[in-house]
Amino acid sequence: MAQPWWRRLWRAEPAFTADEWQAVVDGSPLIRGLGADDQARIARLADRFLHDKAITPAHDLVLAPRDRLALAAHACLPLLRFGESGLRGWSQVIVHPGAFRVDHRRHGAPHEIDELEVVHEGTEDREGESWKYGPMVLSWADLDAEIREPEPGYQLVVHEMAHKLDALDGLLDGTPPLPAAWQREWARDFGAAFESLNALLDADPDAETPIDPYAAEAPEEFFAVCSEYHFTAPDVLRATYPAVAAHLERFYGPPPRLAIAG
Ligand SMILES: [Zn+2]
Repeated sequence: MAQPWWRRLWRAEPAFTADEWQAVVDGSPLIRGLGADDQARIARLADRFLHDKAITPAHDLVLAPRDRLALAAHACLPLLRFGESGLRGWSQVIVHPGAFRVDHRRHGAPHEIDELEVVHEGTEDREGESWKYGPMVLSWADLDAEIREPEPGYQLVVHEMAHKLDALDGLLDGTPPLPAAWQREWARDFGAAFESLNALLDADPDAETPIDPYAAEAPEEFFAVCSEYHFTAPDVLRATYPAVAAHLERFYGPPPRLAIAG
């Protein structure tokens, strides 16, 4: 087998081969839609992710090496500019089979943060959740579907990684660690957009919202949901909350160029 091209860039034994990486790129419109430099960055970050994190399938789920690599690559999308320091503070990914697609989030089910500061998405059947310092929990059925066929506004592991970045400064509040001046602008612009979405829903709880109304649940959900739009429906985000979209382009880099409706 040929020497993997990223080998010179990374000190440890690579977690995957060049062929395995190419298969993930071929199977993922989001990764394919990145520029060449960002694809190379994602490969390095995914390698780091696989060295750092224990990915544990639950129940009878079996994850092939290629599935683990695809999971890692998409989890690292939010780290394209932030870098591998965004992986600190936690070590486990628990993956449930998620035998059917649970859509409660689309119907505005409540989120909660319990006493352990676990963010839960939805109520009973959970697509994902993120512990402030503990494991990331994912539904493979949902993630796998969104990897193969990106759906505008939805990317489960991007959402959960946004929570991880948010929590890095010890406060799950919709603001990741940023230079002070940028953080003030971020808080002002995200706050205004969050208030505007909530004003719309306060006036009419059944209102058509420009983005998933789940974003109105809390500032940290607003950041996580807008992060999903950045990667899968950037045009919707730019048209709706241009200041938020600009912050996310600065924070995450340019979104993938997608051949899907957005
Ligand atoms: Zn969330």
